[in-house]
Amino acid sequence: MSKRIAILGSTGSIGASALDVIRHLGPPYRAIALSAHHQADALVEQVREFHPSAATITGECDRSAISTQLHHLGCETLFGQAGLLELVQRDDVDIVLSAIIGAAGLPAAFAAVEAGKTLLLANKESLVIAGALLMPEARRRNVTILPIDSEHSAIFQAMLAGRRSEVKRVIITASGGPFRSASAAQIATATPAEALKHPTWNMGSKITINSATMFNKAAEIIEAVWLFDLDPSQIVVVIHKESIVHSMVEFIDGSIIAQLSPPDMKTPIQYALTYPDRLPGCSRCIDFSAMFALHFEPPDLVRFPAIEIAYDVARRKGTLGAVMNAANEVAVEWFLSGKIGLGMIARVVAATIRDHSVQAAPTLADLLEADRWARGRAAAIIADAV
Ligand code: MG
Repeated sequence: MSKRIAILGSTGSIGASALDVIRHLGPPYRAIALSAHHQADALVEQVREFHPSAATITGECDRSAISTQLHHLGCETLFGQAGLLELVQRDDVDIVLSAIIGAAGLPAAFAAVEAGKTLLLANKESLVIAGALLMPEARRRNVTILPIDSEHSAIFQAMLAGRRSEVKRVIITASGGPFRSASAAQIATATPAEALKHPTWNMGSKITINSATMFNKAAEIIEAVWLFDLDPSQIVVVIHKESIVHSMVEFIDGSIIAQLSPPDMKTPIQYALTYPDRLPGCSRCIDFSAMFALHFEPPDLVRFPAIEIAYDVARRKGTLGAVMNAANEVAVEWFLSGKIGLGMIARVVAATIRDHSVQAAPTLADLLEADRWARGRAAAIIADAV
């Protein structure tokens, strides 16, 4: 099978790891197309090494300077959201790996599915917002969607140990982030610098804040509901500070199958790229020659209200995924700019959800409208509070 890959968000943390894996695997794995939002210089360096046939910059940039540079490297240059969608639908692209952050990744995910490309999804927001539309569309077009999120890769792999009808529940692990054992008061007043210190994973700033509030886990609960067609009651979240067990599946006979590896995104990225095969990996292995322990504990739902918000959203569905995601994105921006405390983020999301009239079977346009509404509502709630 042809393995010509478009990497969306190639200059971010997941994108860079994906290129590491492609460099390690070699042909037939090829980065045929790349996209970045702002980091034009880093994108040009990637083009110089990987020789894609096309590249897109979605953000503001000096278009003519970049076009000239990339033209000399034999790479066609595209710009903006239209350029991103064109990149995804190119005939020379077989696989789309979407590592775009936030709701901005939604149109590209739909474009990939509509063009019949295999979709490797690191952009969990596509499913949080529009899983009810994206999954049936993929099934209808016989398009494979494979998870890159480490937890969902683990669930996907563990599910192969039995039949789908034999799955009782899934256990999603969470590192607990930097405030796993912090008091509610410490969490409420945490600074961006404190929240950006993640104990086990090295990631971009937005996802690190989402890890500190556990809104990342909240999104992953909803992501799992859509990816694996689960009832929210079948999902258990457990804190596992070592981030070695990436998630587990419990079957009806009581057996639990887990996937373990050191915390390195190259492992789930490579599995998604080589699936259904496995090839020699490029990240370190677990060292059993030294003693170590693995810990599991239930999450504190009072200090981390995001978890219960997610179960509510996963049960009621409709436009709520879009609303939860948009309100959180807005609140995280305000937190990162130092205008609100970390503890305020969950309160803003909960209040925005409370004020929303849920639409049960939304179209994509309805979801985008709910996203737009929630951004405005969340900003107004914050402006009232500060
Ligand atoms: Mg994850």
